[in-house]
Amino acid sequence: MTREDCRDEESNLAREIKRIGFSCTRCGDCCRPGAGDDNLVMVFPREIRAISEFSGLEATDIAEPYPDTVTLPGDRTVTFGRALRRFYGDCRFLSGSSCLVYPVRPSICRTYPFMLEGSELRIYPCRGLGKPISREDAVRIARDLLTRRAEEEEEIRRIQAVFPTIPPGPGRYLVDGEGVCMQ
Ligand code: SF4
Repeated sequence: MTREDCRDEESNLAREIKRIGFSCTRCGDCCRPGAGDDNLVMVFPREIRAISEFSGLEATDIAEPYPDTVTLPGDRTVTFGRALRRFYGDCRFLSGSSCLVYPVRPSICRTYPFMLEGSELRIYPCRGLGKPISREDAVRIARDLLTRRAEEEEEIRRIQAVFPTIPPGPGRYLVDGEGVCMQ
């Protein structure tokens, strides 16, 4: 994709987001269960590090292995990546209706209720939809969505490279773009 194509995609996305409209009502619903999806926030290693630096928490207190697993021959269970920890279903960083790590919240949180699947814009239930949004904010969300998609693609490439290094012995393994570890 050329730089011009990227600019076109960003501006088309921004136009669509502006047409749909969105303004966060700060209800915190997207950080609780039942927000129209399962409120699982998948996080990249760099996002966990940013939250760790901001909060002083250890990585293991921030995120846990993603719950979906696959089984491989040799009695191996593998999960790919991590999700933010939840307490009683709520994101562990939700306090009232505020986010305790707002300045460094993961990109999924910055772009919700919008997600990109390939080049398709998905919209999830949210009270803020339909409200006016500035052109600048629509562009910011579009840019974040495209950055996230590029990061996901890169993470998948890295995971594919790491995958053959999963040890042959039985166990529960976690694989991300930075390597393989036992759970
Ligand atoms: S990190 Fe913040 S914005 Fe994201 S789900 Fe948790 S409380 Fe909500």
